[in-house]
Amino acid sequence: MLTDYHVHLRPDEGGTPPERYFTDANVERYRDAASAAGIAELGISEHIHRFAQALEIWRHPFWVEQAVDDLDAYCDFLAGAGLGIGIEADYVAGAEERIEAVLAARPFDYVIGAVHFVGDAAVDQDRWDVWEAEGHDPDRVWERYFSQLAAAATSGLFDVLAHPDLVKVWGPGRPGPDRDPRAYWEPAVEAIAAAGVAVEVSTAGLRKPAGEIYPAAGFAALCVEAGVPFTLSSDAHVPAEVGYAYPEAIELMAGLGIDRIATFSGRERALEPLG
Ligand SMILES: [Zn+2]
Ligand SMILES: [Zn+2]
Repeated sequence: MLTDYHVHLRPDEGGTPPERYFTDANVERYRDAASAAGIAELGISEHIHRFAQALEIWRHPFWVEQAVDDLDAYCDFLAGAGLGIGIEADYVAGAEERIEAVLAARPFDYVIGAVHFVGDAAVDQDRWDVWEAEGHDPDRVWERYFSQLAAAATSGLFDVLAHPDLVKVWGPGRPGPDRDPRAYWEPAVEAIAAAGVAVEVSTAGLRKPAGEIYPAAGFAALCVEAGVPFTLSSDAHVPAEVGYAYPEAIELMAGLGIDRIATFSGRERALEPLG
């Protein structure tokens, strides 16, 4: 079986209102792309910061600027369209109870937790750049990112962790530390395994300066060793990206002995044969 649960119905840029993208015609384009890629289950996971209710969690200036749409209307639309009801929700340290309140009040099939920010600084945006904030010290940036990932796992708020080593997004533009990356990965994987949360194999990294799948094979191998379950997703923002580069991801997963993927319904997890 193949699934794509980490899918956005629209690009991240401004000027993408729900009335233009949360439509039957747009969903049809995504469904067609999913069928063409052999994907049996399609779920949508818009960024939580696009919804007004996100400001109950955090008032980062980026969120204040982006939080416009109605989260309940979004869930209703996905339910009506027969799509998996998901969300990509940031982990915000100290806001656990507020995150839980926003999530628990909605009929999600799954919640994908993501670390895009450490403190107020962003990992994958030039604005509020974490590299600037941490004095361009790769050791500090990686240490902070993977600690935050571990905390996201431990929070118990999420079913899946998105793009687990997003910190590498800039690729050679912002090289990682010289030391063995396992020193950063291991505590995070330990927390992930203890929390029983799944991790995502995401082909989005292939479309970024990093030029490789999230997570790195070495990180995924540690997860396999620790018994962590996986999902496989594209993080598509347009129909053409649904199931993006899945053959490459499946080859990577098969090479690591991953033969099952997690599926979700009503926040209950099951495991299905991969492929
Ligand atoms: Zn993300
Ligand atoms: Zn995403």
